[in-house]
Amino acid sequence: MKDSVAKAIASLENNGFKVRFFSNENEARQAILDEIDAKATIARCGSVTCTDLGLWESLSQRGNEIIDPYRPELSAEEKDRERKRLLTAEVLLTSSNAITEDGKLVNIDGVGNRVALQVFGPDLVVIVAGTNKITPNLHEALKRIKTVACPQNARRLGLATPCAQNIPCPENGCESPQRMCRATVIIEKQPRLTPTSIYLIDKSLGY
Ligand code: SF4
Repeated sequence: MKDSVAKAIASLENNGFKVRFFSNENEARQAILDEIDAKATIARCGSVTCTDLGLWESLSQRGNEIIDPYRPELSAEEKDRERKRLLTAEVLLTSSNAITEDGKLVNIDGVGNRVALQVFGPDLVVIVAGTNKITPNLHEALKRIKTVACPQNARRLGLATPCAQNIPCPENGCESPQRMCRATVIIEKQPRLTPTSIYLIDKSLGY
């Protein structure tokens, strides 16, 4: 295990999070499915990592209800209603934009539902992340989000932001109406009423 990964795991545990480390996706996927109650309702956020691991299909096939605002058949109003319903989910399954070696979870959101749920609401938050998300410190975490995560997510979502066109993010962020960076949440310790399990996988996953 790399030094940075070992440091991050020790710090996350010291900050109250439950952490499990996996060398491959298959073992991690099974462990995640084992931890999540088969009757729980799950909040789906836009995690590429969870999608690539096939977690939504696996959970849905075994009978978990997925609250999913991304279903293409939904109108814009219906998507917004589903986003509000996410706040009632029993489990949030998501990733983190960055994880620092001193054990912080760092996320930037446009709508805010994902970061809200990471802090309070669900009975369990499950964070799945590749070790590529680990950064030495908070400064590097924010830099990673602005230069790696945001540009790729903006292109994936077809947003008209400077970062989508490889234009460096302005110092105070952009003025695009489609700006994704609207709420920055740094979780320093596991929130008191929100048990959080972090599955770190020794691969490059998601953005
Ligand atoms: S503030 Fe705008 S340009 Fe900067 S990373 Fe966020 S969406 Fe991209």
